[in-house]
Amino acid sequence: MPIETPPPLEPLIFELSVAGRRGLPWPKPDIAEAENESPLPAALRRRTPPEWPEVAEPQVVRHFTRLSQLNFSVDTHFYPLGSCTMKHNPKAADRVVLLPDFIGLHPLRPHTLSQGILEILHDTERWLCAICGMDAFTLQPSAGAQGELTGVLIARTYHESRGQNRPVVLIPDSAHGTNPASVAVAGLTAVTIASTPDGHVDVDVLKSKLGPDVALVMLTIPNTLGLFEPRLREIAKMVHDAGALLYMDGANLNALVGLLRPGDLGVDLLHINLHKTFSTPHGGGGPGAGPVGVKAFLSEFLPTPRVVKEDGVYRRRMDFPKSIGKIHGFMGNVGIVLRAYCYLRLLGEEGIRHVSENAILAANYLRVKLAPLFPKMPKKPCMHEVVVSGEGAFGPGVHTLDVAKRLLDEGFHAPTIYFPLIVPEALMIEPTETETKETLDLFCKTLESIVEESRTSPEKVTSAPHRTPIRRVDEVKAAREPDLRFKRIP
Ligand SMILES: *Cc1c(COP(=O)(O)O)cnc(C)c1O
Repeated sequence: MPIETPPPLEPLIFELSVAGRRGLPWPKPDIAEAENESPLPAALRRRTPPEWPEVAEPQVVRHFTRLSQLNFSVDTHFYPLGSCTMKHNPKAADRVVLLPDFIGLHPLRPHTLSQGILEILHDTERWLCAICGMDAFTLQPSAGAQGELTGVLIARTYHESRGQNRPVVLIPDSAHGTNPASVAVAGLTAVTIASTPDGHVDVDVLKSKLGPDVALVMLTIPNTLGLFEPRLREIAKMVHDAGALLYMDGANLNALVGLLRPGDLGVDLLHINLHKTFSTPHGGGGPGAGPVGVKAFLSEFLPTPRVVKEDGVYRRRMDFPKSIGKIHGFMGNVGIVLRAYCYLRLLGEEGIRHVSENAILAANYLRVKLAPLFPKMPKKPCMHEVVVSGEGAFGPGVHTLDVAKRLLDEGFHAPTIYFPLIVPEALMIEPTETETKETLDLFCKTLESIVEESRTSPEKVTSAPHRTPIRRVDEVKAAREPDLRFKRIP
């Protein structure tokens, strides 16, 4: 529902503070308070009490409830944020993770007392192998970017084990920024390869850059334009002929699960994002998981510990001498893996296929339905997301950023904008498989009225949002100079 008037700015909880106000009557401390009787050394004792907000319990409850309602979230709004897969995730998986037996697990419990969770990790690895056409998986990386780093380290270690020095990684210009960043962190050098005008890998350019110095080619499939790489098999052969490995950034597996196994097309290693495709709510900086799958010849390089099943018993094994070593504490973000396990069991093989089919259907529905609004709408089918240029679509002086802000007024989270960088005024719309046709129709109708408004009263769009408590922020300053501390103004 559109918000009619801007909600008032919620004060900081410190500003609600009144000296001496208490939420609960606290019992008197049962340790001595007097300086000379205290068991705490004097040097460790505070001289002044902490400056905590002094508020009543209902103030606390209302404050945080109001803050939570100022949010755009998947639970309250349509959230078509491309390349992020902000879909609804079944609450059932959350319930399972919160069962006391799972919450109470300690990572240092001996394997004999952890057979259940080790079996779950083992089975999840096997299912991800089946879905991706890989031979082995590690569940340890805690995000897509850490999965990339793990993959690049595996490739580097593999080449080094064969006595080869290959410092270069080739990456298309449409890739996610984490790809070149991960390469740099792994101590290799990223070299960009240009895309063709229709957004695919330029195979001739790729061929010209392949040589004995190339360790890895990193391709995002489907790419960030939401397009499948039609010449993937041919590319894989070229890469292998040059002695390099083919890495797939599989963060956006929503278009492939159950339909296509990357391993069948020549991908040697890949990462996927459990917090996009496999039922972990995504965003807000919470924990995630970016498992990495490899073909058999790379499995000895996977990080340790690895879960193995020997004589019917599950164990954590560390003795893999060629392993890249540890990249995460214990077994990774096990709670996230557990959600993925529940999700896979809930959906089964057929359900998983419907995820992709419906994600692709929804994106193409929007592509066709929004085509009259955008002169540069892609003509060819897309996969899980549709990327369109806002160029020539809006009234005088109105940009994609303004339209994105105006969508907030109407109760929609904005799509990803200005990414990928190769599309001017880009809007990257990912509807996901979990939205109804009614929601998609309302989104189209709303965009249509904003485009219309951008011609009739452009200033209304360029000054949006009007109905949010905070309007435009200086995004560069917020990112570069975040000021997150409360300072009491004297
Ligand atoms: C989301 C995403 C990543 C990074 O994943 P994180 O979990 O945010 O680190 C990498 N590549 C692509 C294509 C993505 O969409």
